[in-house]
Amino acid sequence: MNTPQSTPAPQQVIEQLEHAREQWLRVDILLRRLSTRLTYAADGRTGTLDATLGTLRQRLREPLDEQELESLLTDLTDAVRSLDGLPETRSAAPPPVASKPVAAPPVSDVVPALAIPASSSTANLLLGLIDRLSLEDLDASRLDNLRAAIASAADDAALAVHVESLTGMVNRHLRELGDQHAAAEQLLTHVTKQLDELAQYLNHESTDRRDGTGARQELDRHLASEIDALGNHLQQSPDMSSLHLEVQSRLGAIASHMKTFREREDAREREWQTRSEQMNQRIGELERSAQTMETRLKQKQQLASTDTLTGIANRMVFEQRMVELCEQVMDEACDACLLVLDIDHFKKINDRFGHAAGDRALRIVADQLATRLRPDDLLARYGGEEFVVVLPGTTVDAGHAIAEELRTCIEGVGFRGQQQPVQITLSCGITALRGGDTPADVFERADRALYRAKHAGRNRCVVL
Ligand code: GH3
Ligand code: MG
Ligand code: MG
Repeated sequence: MNTPQSTPAPQQVIEQLEHAREQWLRVDILLRRLSTRLTYAADGRTGTLDATLGTLRQRLREPLDEQELESLLTDLTDAVRSLDGLPETRSAAPPPVASKPVAAPPVSDVVPALAIPASSSTANLLLGLIDRLSLEDLDASRLDNLRAAIASAADDAALAVHVESLTGMVNRHLRELGDQHAAAEQLLTHVTKQLDELAQYLNHESTDRRDGTGARQELDRHLASEIDALGNHLQQSPDMSSLHLEVQSRLGAIASHMKTFREREDAREREWQTRSEQMNQRIGELERSAQTMETRLKQKQQLASTDTLTGIANRMVFEQRMVELCEQVMDEACDACLLVLDIDHFKKINDRFGHAAGDRALRIVADQLATRLRPDDLLARYGGEEFVVVLPGTTVDAGHAIAEELRTCIEGVGFRGQQQPVQITLSCGITALRGGDTPADVFERADRALYRAKHAGRNRCVVL
C-alpha cells in the first residue's frame, strides 16, 4: 500500500531537525577546534596537566559522549586547579553524571532554540587557561572583561565567541614574537651580505697580486734575455762602434720594458686604490646600517623582555632564568631560591579606587622591590598582581630574610588613593632550588607556600 506523501507538519519537523542537526555539528566542530587550540596554549606547565591535555586532544578527534566529556573536563579542571594549589574538584564535585542518567530533551526543546547551557566546568577551564597564559603584555582590562564575559556566558555558543577573541589575543602575541624573530633574521642576512662583499673584495685583491707577480716575472725574463744578448754580443763584437750601437739598443729595449712595466703597475695601483676607497666607503655604509639594525633589534628584545606596565622583567625572562639556574644548581650544587609574591586583596584596591590606581600600586610595588634587590637577583612580574624574585647564591634562610625585608618594606610604603593613605601588603612563598628540580617543580612549591601564606591570614612569608 502506498503511503501518502508526508503531511506538511511532519515535513516541517524533519526539516527543523535536519537544520538543528547541522547547527549542532557546526557548533561541535567549532568547539573541538577551539578546545584543541587552547590545549596547545596551556601545554608545558606540569606533567599531569600535559598528560590530561594530551588525552583531551586525542579524545577531541573522536566522537564523545556526554559522560566522557564531563569526566575529561573534571580531570582538566583538577589539573588546572592543582597548578594553583587548590584542592581537586572530584572530592567536592557532585556525583558523576553516570549515577544520574540524564533524560533526553524533548524534541520541541531542541529544535527551535538550539540553546546549549554554558557548562560551568568549560568556563572554569577557560578562566584557568587565561590565568596560565603568558599574556602579561596585554591590556589587563581587556583580559578582565574577557574573564567576566566568560564567567557570565549564557551558553556554549557565547563561550565559543569569547574563546575566539582569546585566540585572537594569543595569536597577536605570537605575531609580535614572530616580528622579533624576523628582525633578527634580517640582521643575519645583512651581515652575511656584508661578509660576501668583503670576500669578493679579497678575491679581487688576490687576483691583482697574482697579476702583479706575473708582470714582475715577465720584466725579469725580458731583462735577463737583454743582458744575455748583450753578453753574447760583447764576446763576438767585431769593433767598438758596433758594440756601442748594440749597447745603446739593448739599453733602449730595457728602458722600454721598464716603462711598460711601470705604466702597468701605476694603472694597477690606481685601480686598486679606487677599488679600496669604494670598498672602505661601502664598509662604512654597511657598518652604519648594521648598527642601526642592531639598535632596533636590541630595542625589540628589550621590549619583548620588559613588562610594559612596571618596566621590570616579564615572565619570559623569569622562565629563561629559571631554566639556567636549575641547570646550574644541578651541575654545581650551589644555593638558589625563588620567592613568589602576591599582593593581598588587590581586587579590592581596583574595586575601590579604580583600575588606574591599581596600576599605580603595581608600579609602586615593583619599584620598591627592585631597589631592595642585588644586581644578580631577578625581579619579574609573573602576571596580574604576582611578582617573582630569583635569588642565585642564596640559602633558603637568607631568602626568607630577604622576603621578610621585602614584605615589611611594602607594608610600610602604601600609596594614596582618592586622597587617603592605602596600605598594601603582600604574601610570599619561598622555596630553595634543589638538584634535579625542573623550573615547574620549583614554581609549584613556591606557589604552594604562597597559598599557605594566604590561608594563614596573608601579609606573611612561608617557606616550603
Ligand atoms: P588575594 O589576597 O587572595 O591574592 O586576593 P586578590 O584580590 O589580590 O586576588 P584576585 O586573584 O582575586 O584578584 C586579582 C586582581 O588583580 C584581579 C584583576 O582584575 C587584577 N589585576 C590583574 N592584572 C592587573 C593589572 O595589570 N592592573 C590592575 N589594575 N589590576 C590587575
Ligand atoms: Mg592577590
Ligand atoms: Mg594573584
